[in-house]
Amino acid sequence: MRLRLLLAPLLVCAALSAALAGCTDEEPTGIEGKKVLRVGVKFDQPGIGQERRDGTFEGFDVDVAEYVAAALGATPEFVRITSDQRERRIRDREVDLVVASYSITPDRRREVNFAGPYIIGHQDIMVREDATDVAGVHDLRGKRLCQAGGSNSWRRVTVELGIKARLVPAATYGECVRMLQAGDLDALTTDDVILAGYALANPDAFRLVNAKFTDEKYGIGLHKDDIGGCEAVNRALTRMYQDGTAARLLARWFRPAGLKTTGHVPQFEGCS
Ligand code: GLU
Repeated sequence: MRLRLLLAPLLVCAALSAALAGCTDEEPTGIEGKKVLRVGVKFDQPGIGQERRDGTFEGFDVDVAEYVAAALGATPEFVRITSDQRERRIRDREVDLVVASYSITPDRRREVNFAGPYIIGHQDIMVREDATDVAGVHDLRGKRLCQAGGSNSWRRVTVELGIKARLVPAATYGECVRMLQAGDLDALTTDDVILAGYALANPDAFRLVNAKFTDEKYGIGLHKDDIGGCEAVNRALTRMYQDGTAARLLARWFRPAGLKTTGHVPQFEGCS
């Protein structure tokens, strides 16, 4: 009898659970209300997202994700992500958020939702310290250029600007950096906020050309269906700028590399 009394509501719940949210303990599908948020971050980009020896992560994106998760009342659980995994892992709900030098682009916007942007970077070019033949983006013609999988940076040069560089594939920017140092590439082009971290870590090996030929609006990626979650992230990002946290984080992660950043909240693009 006692057992039946206990089971009855459970059975009713099971029957209705498809129709009635809140009847079971099921995890919410959007990010709001989740206690733990799985966040995809980079792991080999110093200053942005880098894995420490103990398996924890650090960098600007990591701190932004910590702030946003706390504002949503959740704890972040960081997982490594590469550029080419971002859309798929959001779509398959393997991650709740992606905070990984993730530029908002029209193509990506068709697949995922973007909160933000929370920072605007500019694409630049990095060469070996002693290189003298690349001063701007048009000098990349005929040069061996890294093609990091799933990234937009090489596309900006060869597809959008039509500059005929010789693309050399790599899985990550960390791999591009190793190839550049080893002489297997002539140049590496991506966002200044990423390149500055590599140059700072290896000041005798690399230098930035200071070409700055794009605006890269970094967004926080989340599931296409989660408009409410996207708006909640935007509220958290607004607060991050208003309470002085953004200015502190920008200074902490980018000032040592000599990058100038403003403390103004970027114009949001809107959730869709
Ligand atoms: N921000 C660029 C992009 O999202 C380059 C950096 C990256 O791939 O993470 O494609």
